[in-house]
Amino acid sequence: MNYRKNDIVEVTIEDLGTNGEGIGRIDGYTLFVKDALIGDTVEAGLTKVKKNYGYARLIRVIRPSEDRITPPCPVHRQCGGCQIQAMSYEAQLRFKQNKVFHNLVRLGSVDADYLSQIMEPIAGMPDGIGLHYRNKAQFPIGYDRDGHIVAGFYAGRTHSIIPCEDCALGPVEYKQILEIVIDHMKEHGITPYDEETGKGVVRHVMIRKGFTSGQIMVCVVISEDRLVQADLLANRLFTIPGMTSFYLNIQKEQTNVIMGNHNILVRGSETIEDTIHLRDPENDFALTGQEVSFGISPLSFYQVNPVQTEQMYSQALHYAALTGSETVWDLYCGIGTISLFLALRAGRVCGVEIVEPAIQNARENAVRNGIENATFFVGAAEEILPAYAGASTHGSKLEGRKSEGVDFPQGDDFLHPDVIVVDPPRKGCDEQCLETMVSMAPERIVYVSCDSATLSRDVKYLRENGYELRKARAFDNFPQTVHVESVCLLSKAQK
Ligand code: SAH
Repeated sequence: MNYRKNDIVEVTIEDLGTNGEGIGRIDGYTLFVKDALIGDTVEAGLTKVKKNYGYARLIRVIRPSEDRITPPCPVHRQCGGCQIQAMSYEAQLRFKQNKVFHNLVRLGSVDADYLSQIMEPIAGMPDGIGLHYRNKAQFPIGYDRDGHIVAGFYAGRTHSIIPCEDCALGPVEYKQILEIVIDHMKEHGITPYDEETGKGVVRHVMIRKGFTSGQIMVCVVISEDRLVQADLLANRLFTIPGMTSFYLNIQKEQTNVIMGNHNILVRGSETIEDTIHLRDPENDFALTGQEVSFGISPLSFYQVNPVQTEQMYSQALHYAALTGSETVWDLYCGIGTISLFLALRAGRVCGVEIVEPAIQNARENAVRNGIENATFFVGAAEEILPAYAGASTHGSKLEGRKSEGVDFPQGDDFLHPDVIVVDPPRKGCDEQCLETMVSMAPERIVYVSCDSATLSRDVKYLRENGYELRKARAFDNFPQTVHVESVCLLSKAQK
């Protein structure tokens, strides 16, 4: 059958793609329908037609899937941030468990029967709901269609703003903060920034909350060096309970990078505090009494879902199986969140991270917690690691790969890793980094990942080079979205 653009069809959805799009077939022709769920029968309008497949938009649900619920946010389809908000939470967890499982089988070449024995059930949000979990949000400020100043979200991939101050993922204070900032702008004639023309002042409002401390940081991103009557704005913001730190962030560049590098503290503390508790994954993630606290600055990377972060890091620490004497390397360590957790149980921890201010934060955080067995290095994991390996293994093929400016210990100072933990960005580990990890021959490798496709690719490499996958567990750090984190344990394969 020949389809054309704008044709309207009825289709039953049988599968979900990795981006949460519904997949259905009519007479062997495959259709991708955004916002449609497995089990839905829908009326869909074709938007793009290829020979063997096409894309369509959801017009109306004719018979809903058993998994379909009324989504809590009225603008979730336009916003696009929550791709699977119309799916029950239970179904979301099933979808994510399957996604990680199938990637490990398909891209990691792990045997499916073996994997079903070693893979643990996904750890979801303990409240079984998964709303209001984010500790950070960045709202663009602009005009709506009627010329009112609004905060909200970019519509899909465009630059127009859909008003939404009441995001279902953020804490309830966000709405009040945005209203105060917008009122201030109206009263003092301050204009929102226009991306197209580069004119106007207020670009974004970034809000962070430490869930355990209750402390709130507000950062108003502006295109000039000052904001009119910033003190008056501070007076109002500081009426909100928990308000701790108010910054202006200066971003003059005409770019879609949200924050600039220059911050001006208007009132309050330089950082807000948050605490991550160590939990017991063998006992339903019960508290163990141990914890690490962190100071978070405006530009620090920090996990956005604190509830799941505790579960995920506790799992990583559990897989590392530390007894107190081990040397552990934590690659891609950010502000040292995992490193300091590991330091509670290890002999010595070495963290490596490419962003220098993050390493400064990591060192401050070690001091804040009285942790003395953690050392942090600035640099690319794929450069620092071979430099160390080269310094220690005489005659190693890696010798001589020392990178410029990397300050590494010589000879006997070499810190042989018993365990290596990695938590790379979405693109996964660099192959040189994996190669060096293998040559350093740690007993165990714990891989924390926010992209199960690159995780699986790297697991395949490690499996082909002397390691075996022993455990895997997915974590739902981003409910309502298609994203999923995972933690894997690999150890030396029996010869
Ligand atoms: N483990 C930390 C951070 C994980 S995010 C946490 O959970 O908070 C990944 C980190 O890798 C980021 O901080 C990023 O700056 C860093 N990074 C990216 N490429 C890197 C590289 N080539 N070498 C070392 N670190 C890198």
